[in-house]
Amino acid sequence: MLKLTNTLTGNLEPFSPDNGNTVRMYTCGPTVYDFAHIGNLRTFVFEDILRRHLRGKGWTLKHVMNITDIDDKIINKAIEAGQDIKTYTAPYTEAFFKDCETLRIERPDIVTPATDYIPEMIDLVGRLIQSGYAYPEGESIYYRISRFPSYGRLSRLEKRELKLGARIDVDEYEKEEPRDFVLWKAPKHEKEPRWEAPFGTGRPGWHIECSAMAMKQLGETLDIHCGGVDNIFPHHENEIAQSEAVTGKPFARFWIHGEHLLVEGEKMAKSKGNFYTLRDLIDRGYDPLAIRYLLVSVPYRKQLNFTFEGLDAARSSLDRIKEFLFRLKSSKFKPGRNPAISAVLTTARKQLDAALDDDLNTAQALAAVFGLIKEGNIALTEDALEEENRSEILQWFEVVEQRLGIVPTVEALVQVDEKVGSLIAQRNEARRNRDFAKADRIRQELLDLDVIIEDTREGTKWRRK
Ligand code: AMP
Ligand code: ZN
Repeated sequence: MLKLTNTLTGNLEPFSPDNGNTVRMYTCGPTVYDFAHIGNLRTFVFEDILRRHLRGKGWTLKHVMNITDIDDKIINKAIEAGQDIKTYTAPYTEAFFKDCETLRIERPDIVTPATDYIPEMIDLVGRLIQSGYAYPEGESIYYRISRFPSYGRLSRLEKRELKLGARIDVDEYEKEEPRDFVLWKAPKHEKEPRWEAPFGTGRPGWHIECSAMAMKQLGETLDIHCGGVDNIFPHHENEIAQSEAVTGKPFARFWIHGEHLLVEGEKMAKSKGNFYTLRDLIDRGYDPLAIRYLLVSVPYRKQLNFTFEGLDAARSSLDRIKEFLFRLKSSKFKPGRNPAISAVLTTARKQLDAALDDDLNTAQALAAVFGLIKEGNIALTEDALEEENRSEILQWFEVVEQRLGIVPTVEALVQVDEKVGSLIAQRNEARRNRDFAKADRIRQELLDLDVIIEDTREGTKWRRK
């Protein structure tokens, strides 16, 4: 049974979709004024793991994500660049999709720019005004927090911290104080994009876009709404206030939030300048799969401190998977199925499912994979593996890939690895024949290929220098 920590209650709760077999899930997308950094991508990777697991449980998923293509930062940058917001945001939106693909992040079923939903947003704001939840001030429209008594429930903010009545009209992240927030902003600059609405010419605030898009695509009550922890307040609190004021129904049953990626103890953020984009790391020679592996290896509710040592360790772990799969694919086996090995696989299979069911414990899920690899390597060395064991293990790795997206493609390396594999096999043969001179010659030959070998109980391990 899948259990997820629901920010709304603070509890680990059993999850299943409310209505039939389909999970209706909304995740807040990127603000496309620049390239995403790997902190942002950590959140999208966590949501990807959730997505993969929900589908793995046999549910159908309807997953919606917005692309924030209008906010203060975007407008300012576009004006600076002398472009309209569509032209300015297009390359960053493209880059975001490319990064996701590189990191094996599956694409949500519906991804649309916020500005495709202007009529829905105008409709929502109009209804909020009508029912007294929103009011004009100057040329803009604000949400009246005092009209919504449960404001603060998600973030558990004390009422006195809310400073009711004061207004704020920026819609960037990291606003310090919760106050009446802007729903519709009158243009401040002649070049600012604007739309006509019955309540005045303007453009939407940040929060209203998610309420409008989520409810239009998924109905009034979603099964799951996700984001990074910095979204809890004010963004998600405001989404709840806007949506529930209009529908009178709970906006989302489960709120799930991913913890931050840190750098030296601080949140990785554009504004702090302590960030790496995916491109930065790829330019330094890192395999994107190692980056994904690192992000997956720490459960989403724990902070993850980014270091290059951590990234190197992720790379070594991937090498272990790669080596095992290579050995498995390239060895010869006798026909049949060794039940002891099948039992080891059954255990690993159960452990993987149980780990992900337990609030997406990806660290435990990877431990299940490495448990199998360890036993599998011993069995390979002892010649205990049989043909059917090989195919069932390889099939399971397809499941591991579906759930975690971290299985290396062995094929890419097969040509080099075949040579290494065959030299290692010849060396082991020489050692069995006690021809140590030959074994040493082969070790040297491997060294010349930049390959270091080590003989262990689990077999001969190798790695690149
Ligand atoms: P943005 O593009 O700024 O709208 O952010 C996109 C997503 O990245 C949001 O869900 C944020 O919660 C998330 N995010 C921002 N910084 C970090 C970080 N350092 N670690 C993890 N997630 C982050
Ligand atoms: Zn949102």
